[in-house]
Amino acid sequence: MDNDPGIMCFRHCPAKSVFCRNVPATCPVCSSHIHDFFIIPFRVPYPLTNAGHNPTSVVIRPARGSFLEDYNAAQDLHIGIVDSTSNIVEFDRNGLIVNNVMKWTDCVAFKVVPVAWTVQWDNTLSSMLRDPKWKSANYNEISMNCFDFVLEFFNILSYEDLKFTSKEDLCRRLILSKIQNVIKYSSLYKVLKNQEYVISNKYV
Ligand SMILES: [Zn+2]
Repeated sequence: MDNDPGIMCFRHCPAKSVFCRNVPATCPVCSSHIHDFFIIPFRVPYPLTNAGHNPTSVVIRPARGSFLEDYNAAQDLHIGIVDSTSNIVEFDRNGLIVNNVMKWTDCVAFKVVPVAWTVQWDNTLSSMLRDPKWKSANYNEISMNCFDFVLEFFNILSYEDLKFTSKEDLCRRLILSKIQNVIKYSSLYKVLKNQEYVISNKYV
């Protein structure tokens, strides 16, 4: 949680949410002094986390740069799988490798299987790490990349309906909503760098 910029949300006037870094004494909607809140200030959940604190999860980050500062929806994503001891397994031009967590301190991480599936999860990773199919020479930025690795991982794992027909299917069903949530948060973050408040009709 170290990099959480601590965006707050509250309502003084019932119809408008105020997003800010610091809760003001005067309501930016009605300009009156705040005695009571309609919705008391709460911290907007920070959507990013350290992969090393998320064993047995799927992790996603921008291929370059950071989600918070410089990501937009057109940029490439990098995806990996974390084993039960918090090692990140990722496929890139170096082949399928167990990596350290240095580049994964502000990523999206989510669990998709129950604890009972931990052994199968780790075994699937181990067998793929031994499979020469995933050596560096076979890497291709378009046709054999990190999404192909995760696609095959889930198809081998065979947990319930977490099987995907293509990378597009994987992105649509597993990833899209999480990334949209991050983009929403980071656009709020960017606006609040230059102005004190964002006033909105919507809740978070
Ligand atoms: Zn007000």
